Amino acid sequence: MDIIKSPSPNFNERDGAQIDMLIIHYTGMKTGEEALERMCDEAAKVSAHYMIEEDGRIFQLVEEDMRAWHAGVSSWDGRSDINGHSIGIELVNPGHEWGYKPFPDVQIEALMELIEDIKTRHDIKTEYVLGHSDVAPERKQDPGELFPWDVLAQKNLALPRPLKV
Ligand SMILES: [Zn+2]
Repeated sequence: MDIIKSPSPNFNERDGAQIDMLIIHYTGMKTGEEALERMCDEAAKVSAHYMIEEDGRIFQLVEEDMRAWHAGVSSWDGRSDINGHSIGIELVNPGHEWGYKPFPDVQIEALMELIEDIKTRHDIKTEYVLGHSDVAPERKQDPGELFPWDVLAQKNLALPRPLKV
């Protein structure tokens, strides 16, 4: 798996929080280049650990042991510092604002390969592979209804939807 490094200044220490969650997003911008540029812009104060282009290229912006700034105000299962506990992956997609469209197979294949790889390094339970809209339902709708949760679930990389909470 090739990973293209594109370091972002937007991160801080995890301060001892254990990594045990994985949060999936879409970029919600017109292009992947635009999203990458924004996440590497210090003034934007946003980032993610990884961004996956529509053609399957994987970019790494923040090292896994650092706390990337992707989830914002969010909570799950009694936790409020989702950024502290998670690895954030952005999928390039214009999103509901700019022309939401299906995620290409090659992009989802790269995502699944990356999740499997991350799971070799961290103890992340299948039920803790979540979407941004799960942890911030009032504010966020990514990755959205076209995200193929069932394809991930077939490989035991996420739970099938709808979630039974
Ligand atoms: Zn998001």
